[in-house]
Amino acid sequence: MSSDKEQRPRRAGTHVVHSGRDPFAHHGFVNTPVYRGSTVLFKTIESFENRAQRYVYGRRGTPTSEALEEAIATLEGGARTVLAPSGAAAIAGALLAFTKAGDHILVADTVYLPTRKICGGALKRFGVETTYYDPAIGAGISELMRPNTTVVFTESPGSLTFEVQDIPAIAAAAHKGGAIVMTDNTWGTPLYFKPFSHGVDISIQAATKYIVGHADAMLGSVTASAALAKTMVDEIQGLGICAGTEEMYLGLRGMRTLDVRLERHWRSGLEIAAWLEQRPEVSRVLHPALPSHPQHALWKRDFTGACGLFSIVLKPCPKPALAAMVEGLQLFGMGASWGGFESLVLPFNATQARSATAWQPEGPTLRFHIGLEDVADLKADLAAGFARLTA
Ligand SMILES: *Cc1c(COP(=O)(O)O)cnc(C)c1O
Repeated sequence: MSSDKEQRPRRAGTHVVHSGRDPFAHHGFVNTPVYRGSTVLFKTIESFENRAQRYVYGRRGTPTSEALEEAIATLEGGARTVLAPSGAAAIAGALLAFTKAGDHILVADTVYLPTRKICGGALKRFGVETTYYDPAIGAGISELMRPNTTVVFTESPGSLTFEVQDIPAIAAAAHKGGAIVMTDNTWGTPLYFKPFSHGVDISIQAATKYIVGHADAMLGSVTASAALAKTMVDEIQGLGICAGTEEMYLGLRGMRTLDVRLERHWRSGLEIAAWLEQRPEVSRVLHPALPSHPQHALWKRDFTGACGLFSIVLKPCPKPALAAMVEGLQLFGMGASWGGFESLVLPFNATQARSATAWQPEGPTLRFHIGLEDVADLKADLAAGFARLTA
């Protein structure tokens, strides 16, 4: 709490509660308040000319943004975090900050679809070429490295289909070739995957998901190693990227319960995934924490937990039967942005979102987010859904 007391080492659950809080800087109030501000006043011409005070302009940081940035940087194990108005803005900001015309970047074929759109849109227009790679590539990434490859972008597990990447092997090869490594760590969260101890240089969170945790705000973060921190801050702030005050507060509010919420998402998600694996209607469950997952060993080696998000491949079935199953669910809403307290289901088609690998599932695919409801009620809702599917 007070920085002048001697600090014993702290574990993640404690950081979640205490990082970025300094109550006696705010009259003893437990939470860092929302500082609403654009203008920051200076007392002297000299202090204005030298920007010689802690806060200089709303966009460049407030006590509220610093509190959340400090908490995320501490948990992810990076040197410095900057906030963005969404996860997508964080990804765009990170990629724009570390590429220039003539560069080549390598991006996992299973990245979040809007990441592909940033690569094929702004980056392409500004002369940055993207090659997509098989997420299972591991050290083989060295064969795709070119002299002008500057960024290797990872996301593990992959969006929608949950392939786990060997990030330490990819990072070693990328660094050898002179590139930096970025990861979209939204699934791993700042608690269950520690990017900077696995060779990552820049980590991105869609804080919209578990950090906010209540489906009520958009927020993103970019965290850098010490070597890249200054460039990251200068470039991302230079692009005008900053988050809204209310959203930052909701991020801080969510942060305090992240550890307990995630543990429940993890346990309930895994229980339901294992239950789904036994259902006759289900062909495959794509959940890295299940022993049947093709990269389960990698997940076990590198992650310390799992969130509540995974997918299934159903056995072939008529579309109206699938609609009857999904649309009749009482506890699973149909929606895209996960990480809130509530359960979700989403039919998806990832075939068009892959270019370096083939994704041809044997049946319809559904993504689930398992929320904080009672797990027995969720199973009963799904069981009724399967009864509609096969009716
Ligand atoms: C949702 C999501 C994003 C984008 O976050 P927004 O805040 O919705 O812009 C980025 N990456 C992953 C993996 C996501 O799931």
